[in-house]
Amino acid sequence: MVSFSYGNSRGKGILVDLFNSFPAFSRRVEGLTLDRASLIKLEFGLLIPPFLPNRVEMITMGYVDLHLHTTASDGVLNPSELVRYAKAKGLQAVAITDHDTIDGCEEGLSEGERIGFEVIPGIEIKHSTGSMHILGFFLDIHHPSLNERLKYLQRARAERNPKMVEKLKRLGVDITFEEVVKASGGGQVGRPHFANVLLEKKYVRSFQEAFDRFLKKGAPAYVDKFRFTSKEALHFINEAKGVGVLAHPNTLGMNGYSELEKLVLRLVEEGLQGIEVYYPEHSAADVAKYKTLAERHGLLVTGGTDYHGMEKNGLDIGVGRGEMKLPYSIVENLKTVRNRSLSGR
Ligand SMILES: [Zn+2]
Ligand SMILES: [Zn+2]
Repeated sequence: MVSFSYGNSRGKGILVDLFNSFPAFSRRVEGLTLDRASLIKLEFGLLIPPFLPNRVEMITMGYVDLHLHTTASDGVLNPSELVRYAKAKGLQAVAITDHDTIDGCEEGLSEGERIGFEVIPGIEIKHSTGSMHILGFFLDIHHPSLNERLKYLQRARAERNPKMVEKLKRLGVDITFEEVVKASGGGQVGRPHFANVLLEKKYVRSFQEAFDRFLKKGAPAYVDKFRFTSKEALHFINEAKGVGVLAHPNTLGMNGYSELEKLVLRLVEEGLQGIEVYYPEHSAADVAKYKTLAERHGLLVTGGTDYHGMEKNGLDIGVGRGEMKLPYSIVENLKTVRNRSLSGR
């Protein structure tokens, strides 16, 4: 903690605004490596005011962020960088919740141990209907059935692209899996890369036409992405000693309270123990509604920014767009519920 005064800001806290004010850090976001000098500054979480060209941000110690992505899914920072950044920002604890994988947790946990920062191993699982996401916290990441289920998911995903190639061939399109992989530039292969190949080979005149005629859901070359049902996801989260929480309920597109309540009650029967009440896209009315729902049914309240590390809309870890200040008691409550259900086993 340092005292500072800079521009109109005055106070006590940790000075960091790495993305906006530290050029080397911004360069890392574009795929280059962070230089050593800035890494050291990042670790200490302290930037001297003259280095900050535009904005100084003060974060009071002790807040938490329980929804974060790393390079293990679609985040920009690797788990170690994310953990160091969170500490530099003055947070007290974070949860790593990558999409459908726990691959970033081990690294995040050991970096947390190294620098003395609390990291909660977690996951965010996409439900088979798409708009519902389930968060899992405090997972035993070495639990055999959790790992087995996630491996199954990866295998099922890997089979999807070759299946789409087969369907296109049957439709008379001359295409190979290698061409699609090449179009992806070596990254994760997806439908946009199929569209590029179709466009290049003049089967379609536009990207949109590729989706409309072949690739969109319901079109003849479409293959469903494998996803777990909520029941399966909550089952293996609980089995791996984790706590299952409904992520950002606003994406469910449910307007009425009673409709949402019905769904939540069904999920509770399947093993749900909490609701992500605090989320950057939730309005004040949303927050009030989800909080009431959680309280009425004895569910945990959690929150997080869903930070991916490259947000262009001013969203940042721990604070969202400035409105998120989540106390450590959220983590304590999660631990209490987890211990209670573990001892009840
Ligand atoms: Zn999500
Ligand atoms: Zn997310």
